[in-house]
Amino acid sequence: MKQHTRSKPDIDSLAEGVFSGDRVAMGQAITLIESNLESDQQPATKLVAKVLPKSGNALRIGITGVPGVGKSTFIETFGKYLVNQGKKLAVLTIDPSSPLTKGSILGDKTRMEELSKHPSAFVRPSSSGQSTGGVAHKTREAIFLCEAAGYNVIIVETIGVGQSEIAVSNMVDFFLLLMLTGAGDELQGMKKGIMEIADAIVITKADGNNLKNAVEAQSMYQQALHLFPASESGWHPTVLTSSSLTGNGIEEIWKAITKHYDLVKSSGYLLKNRSKQNVAWFHDRFMQLLNKDLKQFKEIENAQKKLEIEVSNSTISSESAARQLLDAYHKALRTMKS
Ligand code: GDP
Repeated sequence: MKQHTRSKPDIDSLAEGVFSGDRVAMGQAITLIESNLESDQQPATKLVAKVLPKSGNALRIGITGVPGVGKSTFIETFGKYLVNQGKKLAVLTIDPSSPLTKGSILGDKTRMEELSKHPSAFVRPSSSGQSTGGVAHKTREAIFLCEAAGYNVIIVETIGVGQSEIAVSNMVDFFLLLMLTGAGDELQGMKKGIMEIADAIVITKADGNNLKNAVEAQSMYQQALHLFPASESGWHPTVLTSSSLTGNGIEEIWKAITKHYDLVKSSGYLLKNRSKQNVAWFHDRFMQLLNKDLKQFKEIENAQKKLEIEVSNSTISSESAARQLLDAYHKALRTMKS
């Protein structure tokens, strides 16, 4: 493969490298996709267009849960189970940086150490330092890339804060929520929205002294899920327990995921849902680009600031402020053209 440089990537050989499953090429390709450099945008778009026709053949699983619930330990155990079954597994992580620390929430800790070394697994450390929206788009493109490289199970992990769970649920076929025992309080205020979009809830650390609590939590969550309306796919969300230390429950979780996959594949829901996701991402991306485009006009920024003050003072309605800003944008575009 020809040398890929950051300034002038050779997209054709990079794509060939991806198709042959070359890890170095995959790493370079994902780095290119993740790049925020303006000069990388066109080659990255070209690369995605090249891999897209070869994508779509994997089962895409989203995994979320609060920090400490056991996500990375679970993915290590579950991932090893999958590769031992002959699967080719890619693990991608969405880790939007905390705006307070400006650093990765996951920090430098080594995650999924054994799985990372397995020849049938590709574990991509999280990209961070950007907004959830930006990271999510790039992760979604990384899914296509991994699929084009022949990975047939993709896990997208999110750290379970902010909007990243919703973003991940919108790019996968199956969404798994990991929960700790002692859930009584959590059930009250938290995560109801997330529970509603989960295809399965897994109570983690179901081992040792915690086993009894885990089984109790399982039946409590199962009852709670009955209160939610049936999912559009016809799937009834299930609650399971697992231990990443003993391996208990791991096989049952995979069985539930494949049962769901078989159901949505045969009913046509899988493709329908993916099409719906594609359109939603297109809209989302267009709004992002439009926002970026707006920012190139200094006069728009000034007008926006002025209107914000007027709206906050109630001297103008938000509706007419929005329309004025739109007029200002149209005017700026006309001026640019002439
Ligand atoms: P994450 O922050 O959600 O990725 O959580 P980690 O995978 O880093 O796990 C957090 C802690 O829980 C670690 O100390 C793990 O050793 C522990 N842990 C994870 N899974 C299990 C499990 O199945 N059983 C027990 N007993 N401990 C676990």
